[in-house]
Amino acid sequence: MIIDTHCHLNDKRFEKDLDEVIQRAFDADVKGMIIPGADPAELPGAVEIAEKYDNIYFAVGVHPYDKEDFDLSFLEKHITHPKCIAVGECGLDYYRLPDDAEEKEADKAAQKAIFREQIALAKKYGKPLIIHIRDASKDSLDILIKENAREVGGVLHCYNASPILLELDRHGFYYGIGGVITFKNAKKLVEILPQIPKEKLLIETDAPYLTPHPHRGERNEPFYTTLVAEKMAEILQMERTELEEIVLANTQKLFNRFF
Ligand SMILES: [Zn+2]
Ligand SMILES: [Zn+2]
Repeated sequence: MIIDTHCHLNDKRFEKDLDEVIQRAFDADVKGMIIPGADPAELPGAVEIAEKYDNIYFAVGVHPYDKEDFDLSFLEKHITHPKCIAVGECGLDYYRLPDDAEEKEADKAAQKAIFREQIALAKKYGKPLIIHIRDASKDSLDILIKENAREVGGVLHCYNASPILLELDRHGFYYGIGGVITFKNAKKLVEILPQIPKEKLLIETDAPYLTPHPHRGERNEPFYTTLVAEKMAEILQMERTELEEIVLANTQKLFNRFF
């Protein structure tokens, strides 16, 4: 049994066939899903899906790309919903910064500010964090430690294989592994995977993005976590069922839910 700890089921690309996508996952041992927050305009969609299905939960949060739309009171309105189980995805993403030096610094500063506010929100309500980090490992690490995020812990979703982030294991953080592990050019992640303590591994898709091999280029969906689990078990030289049991226990522990 697998829980897809990160899938954007409220994305437009699932609008037409969401019921089938979810059923395909349930039929294939993918028994639970978590919808992270990203663009606040899509949050009501996530709430609606979580209310409709058992074992589907959502998180409140604002992706660094959507920082202009950050509104703390809007997130706070939804955080007490019984199916809200985390804060995120939030974090730092320096992949598409403006070229101008001054604008670049302003962009980083704005990202950091809403990241800190979301860590504070998670601590206020005792919810774990779903963290998004791209090309910003050092700054993210510093903020998570300085803001004492260990009080609630969380997951580094789509873990980027940065060795410095392994330190966050000691701060209550988990490592979300997704379709990238199946890519032919995933050498860094394949090499670092055995260094992550097994009791800190989670599985995710980040659907509709990052579709595993051999479906790259197609829309990703929770069903494909089965391919991720298979590849992880192969790399770690474990039985897939054994790996899935450990990962399920990790997921229940972090999100404080029995799926
Ligand atoms: Zn992300
Ligand atoms: Zn995501």
